[in-house]
Amino acid sequence: MNHVLSLKCLICGREYQPDEVEYVCPDHGNEGILDVQYDYALIGRRFSQGDLLHDTNYTMWRYKPLLPVEPDSPVPPLTVGWTPLMRANRLATELDLRRLWIKDDGRQPTASFKDRASAVAVVKAQEKGAQVITTASTGNAAAALSGLCASVSQPNVIFVPEAAPPAKIAQLLVFGSTVMLVKGSYDEAFELCLLAAQEYGWYNRNTAYNPYMTEGKKTASLEICEQLGWQAPDRIFVSVGDGCIIGGLHKGIKDLRALGWIDRTPRLMGVQAEGSAYMYQAWANGEDVLTKPPITAHTIADSISAGLPRDRLKAMAAVQETDGAYIQVSDQEILAAIPALARGCGVFAEPAGAAAYAGLAKAIAEGLVGAAERIVVLVTGNGLKDVTGAMKAMEQIGTRAHVIRTSMDDVKRTMAIDQSGAVTDGI
Ligand SMILES: *Cc1c(COP(=O)(O)O)cnc(C)c1O
Ligand SMILES: [Zn+2]
Repeated sequence: MNHVLSLKCLICGREYQPDEVEYVCPDHGNEGILDVQYDYALIGRRFSQGDLLHDTNYTMWRYKPLLPVEPDSPVPPLTVGWTPLMRANRLATELDLRRLWIKDDGRQPTASFKDRASAVAVVKAQEKGAQVITTASTGNAAAALSGLCASVSQPNVIFVPEAAPPAKIAQLLVFGSTVMLVKGSYDEAFELCLLAAQEYGWYNRNTAYNPYMTEGKKTASLEICEQLGWQAPDRIFVSVGDGCIIGGLHKGIKDLRALGWIDRTPRLMGVQAEGSAYMYQAWANGEDVLTKPPITAHTIADSISAGLPRDRLKAMAAVQETDGAYIQVSDQEILAAIPALARGCGVFAEPAGAAAYAGLAKAIAEGLVGAAERIVVLVTGNGLKDVTGAMKAMEQIGTRAHVIRTSMDDVKRTMAIDQSGAVTDGI
């Protein structure tokens, strides 16, 4: 890994060699998150935009020279990354925009963005010869690690809060993970996972603890820029819980600027649920995220429910250094965004995925976005992850199925009701 110069503590700036520390800065404990520093001159000599033009490997590993792994390390066979970036003209018209794209990371192998990070975790664990990988997660990071481990037959132990949506728990069981359903919050599951990892010597994938997760997540902004022909968009909207995704997007943009592959910085727009708006509050009130105490998080969007965002330093820098903004949206707005997105472009998102679109609608309503801007909305998780959330969204707008007998009379009566524009109600 001679393209990796060091791992740098975000608090004290001290730099470590990758084999010197495993996860966080020894002087700063769990807050001392490390950032991977690269030799961009070396990478630039080895790797060019021209190489990508001829590269038919349409996965996140097309950027392997920019990732913190050995060049010859095998990568998992599941195809992670290169998710579609779709032009969404109908949604654009509704919002009075001219150029809008949806990037659908619900189409990753385990149906969320988290596959990008877990794929890197599996490669790092195998480089280190780890027997077992572990993580704590609100659900998607767990499902992602579980699936990626299954693809390479890597034993793993997963800690999730008991309240995680059943679809996500089902994924863990089906993939064959050892599953610890913790009677407690995500934060408690996280602490327990750290203790267990120390006790048993397991390799730890935890977000904002393992420095390499940000690097996997950055592949989304590399893809967005490549898919747009290296013309960076003006803004990227993404939902924020722990802040690792937005920090990863920022890292990818910084890489591309350092390589000179893009000539401007997209503004990163972090979208939070009102009931879990730690980053929004800190940003709006100019609070220091190292001293701001945790909040009590409550939102329907379980994937972005975080009382103390683990990656808050990177998440704050992502918005401040790109001249972006934080936006908060209500649970009602998040639920409304699910059918709006699904009916406007055919993408079914889980609540945390739809939140990014709700944030765009709100930013437009608040006059933050110009009509001519090129906008990307990153949808981070598939709607089938949380069917209960989707059904709540349908209840909110009064959409119900027609329950009928097996008779054409009922079909005709229902069609007549529908055509008269009457309430689409059960009969
Ligand atoms: C994890 C997740 C997020 C938020 O990512 P953070 O890194 O925690 O900010 C958003 N949406 C979905 C679907 C997720 O799984
Ligand atoms: Zn430090």
